[in-house]
Amino acid sequence: MLDVIKLLPDSVANQIAAGEVIQRPASAVKELMENALDAGATQIDLVVKDAGKALIMVTDNGCGMSETDARMCFERHATSKISKAEDLFSIRTMGFRGEALASIAAIAQVELKTRRKDDEVGVKIINEGSVVKEQTLVPMPVGTTFTIKNLFFNVPARRNFLKSPAAEMRHVVEEFTRVTLMNPEVGFTLTSDGKELYHLYPGNLKQRIMGLFGNNYDEKLLAVHQDTDRVSIHGYIVKAEFAKKTRGEQYFFVNKRFIKHPYLHHAIENAFMEMIPQDSFPGYFLNIEVDPADIDVNIHPTKTEVNFLDVKLVYAILHAAVRKAIGQNNLSPMIDFDEPANLGFDFGEVVKSSSPIVQPEVPVNSAYNPFRQHQTPSKPSGDWRLLYGERTDSTGEETPPENPQETTANTELKTHYLQLNQSYIVTTVKSGLLVIDQHLAHYRVLFEKFLKDMETSTGHSQQELFPQPFTLNANDASLMRELLPDLQQVGFNMEQANPTTFMINGTPADLAGADPVALLEKMLENYKINRTDLQLERKLGIAKTMAAQLSVKAITPLSEKEMENIVDQLFGCSVAEVAPDGKKTYVLLALDEINGKLKNS
Ligand code: ADP
Ligand code: MG
Repeated sequence: MLDVIKLLPDSVANQIAAGEVIQRPASAVKELMENALDAGATQIDLVVKDAGKALIMVTDNGCGMSETDARMCFERHATSKISKAEDLFSIRTMGFRGEALASIAAIAQVELKTRRKDDEVGVKIINEGSVVKEQTLVPMPVGTTFTIKNLFFNVPARRNFLKSPAAEMRHVVEEFTRVTLMNPEVGFTLTSDGKELYHLYPGNLKQRIMGLFGNNYDEKLLAVHQDTDRVSIHGYIVKAEFAKKTRGEQYFFVNKRFIKHPYLHHAIENAFMEMIPQDSFPGYFLNIEVDPADIDVNIHPTKTEVNFLDVKLVYAILHAAVRKAIGQNNLSPMIDFDEPANLGFDFGEVVKSSSPIVQPEVPVNSAYNPFRQHQTPSKPSGDWRLLYGERTDSTGEETPPENPQETTANTELKTHYLQLNQSYIVTTVKSGLLVIDQHLAHYRVLFEKFLKDMETSTGHSQQELFPQPFTLNANDASLMRELLPDLQQVGFNMEQANPTTFMINGTPADLAGADPVALLEKMLENYKINRTDLQLERKLGIAKTMAAQLSVKAITPLSEKEMENIVDQLFGCSVAEVAPDGKKTYVLLALDEINGKLKNS
């Protein structure tokens, strides 16, 4: 018998491989732009004709290539970016498989012109269907220009498979957008059929977003900043009120590489929880920086999927980061920070921090002029206690009281709370009058408390004198079993006695006389509506239901001490400004506003 196995010629092998890397003109655009960035370019110009089918030209002012490299770069597995397998796990550059140019050359007519800084002239190479047709020296500026003509000229099936020019152009613009967003310090242009569509100047991310999506994004964006040991998240979200009815600007990047990640997308949607209508979509432009060793990017040929080693951690951090940004948005109009950078604070940390907590101070001097205190400039420290007009310097240098008799330790330190309509808590702060919805405030306080209890397993349980049976149908019982570990953590000490009955041995200490069975039924009901496999979301659901049920309702008389507790705890919350359902917990009547109204009357 004759041997039948043959090695495919390179040109055929490349053509087959090309199908994986280059599916459409936009894929070539992406590869060429990423190569230009890897070459250290500060200006990259993209020109396309007929949505890239007739022509794609990328010009950069990067490092260029030597004559040998210019020939070599079209070889399969030719790359300057990796030399050993371990490099794959630490790689931070864009491409690393050395396949892109080989693939493009296999299915198009490619002209490469390139020149390094120290070379007198550049080199021009023409490569058609993996064959070098021409090599000459050319005068040119430093950098590289790749010109791709007649993509898929030798793969008619693929060419016929392409969508309409408009659809292909949308793909090109989308790739252009993804690449340019994460490289705002680089200038870019995009010209299509002779018309310049984008001219992006070097700048910061916010300017880049405005350059791509319009200058009106200036007021639509909220900065997100979160740094932890393992993960840091930076970028912008679109304010809830500008959420769109179509799934529009949703850009996730990991180490600046665009990815799609439904699970992490969910973390953001969830953070906007009920702040945007059901049929609208949140917008975001976020980059997640992680150690490359903590991800596996190479699980999909076009590399828009990423596996995180600890995706739950990233979910939780992302969720918290977005929550914080939303919360600060609602707060920021109240405190006039000079430096926006100060908005990166964390309320929770402030409360835990070691700086001495100074009691809120309200002068009782009858000669007290509230406007004078307001006029005293204070250090913007990003501290919520500023609301109360406290001194944040701990040097203890206080101005002596004007009338010593009236400012005994007791009265000097007292803030007063009034109840309005048995529903609102009214108190004074440095910048005006604070009116707090008692139910929504308490709802927020308890929600965060229960979440924390579950995180730290510190929910206190009160032993029941007589264990209470709780019977369910078989279906509900199995759902209840799923909730059991989380319920345990908030203080429900329960065990399953038989397939349909649970014994309640202990209940959360915060129950305050509420019926535990009714509460459990409510939780089960909500869980049925929002059934989820996500542990974090299950916890959120339980905390929300418990907090909603156990918080004080409107039309409930409160003592001054109770009001003080609610207000203190509210401003110790990580998001004090909105209840878990997105409703505002308080309004501030600013002194300026009151002043203006009275003066103009
Ligand atoms: P990879 O990017 O994975 O290394 P490519 O096929 O995209 O593979 O590119 C092969 C090599 O060609 C790169 O590693 C780089 O050395 C060189 N190269 C490609 N484009 C450029 C460019 N615009 N400027 C300088 N060098 C380039
Ligand atoms: Mg590449």
